[in-house]
Amino acid sequence: MPPSKGKPHDSLSYGIRETRARPVKMIPLIPKYATMHSVLSAWARCGQVNIKTPQHRGNRASLLAFDYTLGAHARKLSESVFKGAICADDIVDFHSHVPMYASFLTALQAFGWRDRLTGGAPGRDTIAMGIRRMGVVEAETLRKCPTCVREDQVRFGCGHWRLFHQWPAARRCAIHGDELVTHCARCKTPAVRGNEPSLADDPCLNCGCDEWAAEHRDSTTGHWPLMQLMYRALKGQAPELSALVRAHPLLRAPSSTWGDFGAGKADRSHLQHLFTAWHVESPAHLGSVLGMNWNWSADSSSAPSIATSPFMFQAAVLAAEPARQCAS
Ligand SMILES: [Zn+2]
Ligand SMILES: [Zn+2]
Repeated sequence: MPPSKGKPHDSLSYGIRETRARPVKMIPLIPKYATMHSVLSAWARCGQVNIKTPQHRGNRASLLAFDYTLGAHARKLSESVFKGAICADDIVDFHSHVPMYASFLTALQAFGWRDRLTGGAPGRDTIAMGIRRMGVVEAETLRKCPTCVREDQVRFGCGHWRLFHQWPAARRCAIHGDELVTHCARCKTPAVRGNEPSLADDPCLNCGCDEWAAEHRDSTTGHWPLMQLMYRALKGQAPELSALVRAHPLLRAPSSTWGDFGAGKADRSHLQHLFTAWHVESPAHLGSVLGMNWNWSADSSSAPSIATSPFMFQAAVLAAEPARQCAS
């Protein structure tokens, strides 16, 4: 199949190599921003990947057991699992949350991080460790948008899990605005990541029902602008975020500590605006709304600083600002 023919604009054609000697199994067409769990599941369903083969450090755990959310093992996946049909750059840029988080780093930091991931450099990924310390990258249960699933079935033959549906603060699909569904409508079993392939249009593992329901969690006026901002960042279309963070009265270092708050009238009004947009009473409250595990009070020996707050918190502060900063 030539990559240009009938290829949806938001999908990636991971080249199919033709051989005359034996029929080639179809390599599935994968949408951008599908999770790596989704990509591996689709490849496994097509018989292209044995998820039980030892791939990472000789570990025999299912390939699906590894956490690929921040681009880990990109080089190894590309070479030993996808045999070069998906390059490490595409894994990091289109199937991990790295571009979203990189928007909060300086250009140099972001370049170094990405370069390290795609190059398969050994050693610990301290940036990823820092992000994980502050909160979870993806919610515990899998979420999906009903419209995305229906469109995927037509375009790709199966429904995919999307990166931007799994953010803990996500309530709606950033593309369609649909409320994200999380659990079986009949038996209430949530969809979860397991060691077996799973795709977004699979029926409920428990009862076989294929109707899904939403959790109807509280959604505030802050949620939608945050989703739009994060989705732009994920697509690499928000390179200005680190500059906005540095310039923001509540986020810029070093004066903006919670202890100092109230010193300036402007700071107070920004803070009030933030709390109103998110219907919260304190930074800790906002943290819990965003699904973060940052312990604000643990920082109180030195005054807790918003400038060193988790990226997700910074995003929530930026998203609460008037439209000029987060217009897409
Ligand atoms: Zn959608
Ligand atoms: Zn069920």
